[in-house]
Amino acid sequence: MDLFEYQARDLLASHGVPVLPGGVAETPEQAEAIAREIAAPVVVKAQVKTGGRGKAGGVKLADDAESARARAQDILGLDIKGHVTHRVMVAQASDIAEEYYFSYLLDRSNRTFLAMASVEGGMDIEQLAVERPEALARVPIDAAVGVDEQKAAEIVDAAGFPAEVRDQVIAIAVQLWDVFAKEDATLVEVNPLAKTPDGTVLALDAKVTLDENAEFRHTEHAALEDAASANPLEAAAKEKGLNYVKLDGEVGIIGNGAGLVMSTLDVVAYAGEEFGVKPANFLDIGGGASAEVMANGLHIILSDPAVKSVFVNVFGGITACDAVANGIVSALGLLGAEATKPLVVRLDGNNVEEGRRILAEADHPLVTVVDTMDGAARRAAELAAA
Ligand code: GDP
Ligand code: MN
Repeated sequence: MDLFEYQARDLLASHGVPVLPGGVAETPEQAEAIAREIAAPVVVKAQVKTGGRGKAGGVKLADDAESARARAQDILGLDIKGHVTHRVMVAQASDIAEEYYFSYLLDRSNRTFLAMASVEGGMDIEQLAVERPEALARVPIDAAVGVDEQKAAEIVDAAGFPAEVRDQVIAIAVQLWDVFAKEDATLVEVNPLAKTPDGTVLALDAKVTLDENAEFRHTEHAALEDAASANPLEAAAKEKGLNYVKLDGEVGIIGNGAGLVMSTLDVVAYAGEEFGVKPANFLDIGGGASAEVMANGLHIILSDPAVKSVFVNVFGGITACDAVANGIVSALGLLGAEATKPLVVRLDGNNVEEGRRILAEADHPLVTVVDTMDGAARRAAELAAA
């Protein structure tokens, strides 16, 4: 989960990282009120989950509360790389003498954590990494050890921070690691980490990505979710504990086991080429496949208006095919009139004969049973195109 800058800034502040005071506003009036509370000048910043806001006109300085209101008026509604601005952060502005860069991230390709730091911050760091890679220090972090003062000093010296800010940046590097490790982040990035004319170092922009796999350890992180812009189907699925991802096709997919569902997406995408249709979602109902879980899954998929047909692809293992078949039949019973789209079912594995017999006997008008995965994918694609 990516955080908005104002959320990231609050998180950094709660771990002791120096930031400037400010607040978040949804209207120009609210922006003016915040600017009045903190000493002007202020900076008004678009809160969108993308970088490069400065270049896109999403970061503006204001000398007093009235102009903060005017700048908020300009920025609210601004489209930045496809992200519409619904909120601005109004923060105390600072004069900047130097702009640095500092981040921790999960380096998947090297299976480690990585610190990156540069005394040439402010600009696009991707560009710096390509054009002047020698100006960007990269220091691997041992997850079991983390970043203590000694490690922080190693990073700070590798990046060549000037002597007069060295101690401050070392302290901030340790605090940022505290954020990264204790909050279970996969990215903590500060750009710019700014030096003010009086020599104070401050985090002026922050980007944080939290690891959703660690959600169970952080009930407080749920409040950071941007419910307003979440996909409503994905939100409903999450509430039911279903592993669902909305895609932009027409063939709804339900399967048991992530690997099976992934390969189902592939065969439907392949079969769909001929009919001009694609998979509408990823949905893994896991090992159980009880009637209730099946009904919840079907309910989510059938409430997607883009879905024209549904492919239920189940491999019976510990939960045998007869139990799955009974699950499908009772799920359709539970859904009643809500079930309106054709279902293609492919069952295989443990006790498949009995499973198919149950479906044949139920003889539901919407259900077609096809024995092979390729055949079922083709039939589902054909029905979606009809
Ligand atoms: P980004 O473009 O999305 O990364 O947004 P930033 O928050 O990094 O802002 C972009 C640029 O605006 C920074 O690199 C700074 O040069 C400038 N900026 C941001 N906050 C302040 C501030 O408080 N004072 C001044 N003078 N400039 C700022
Ligand atoms: Mn920035």
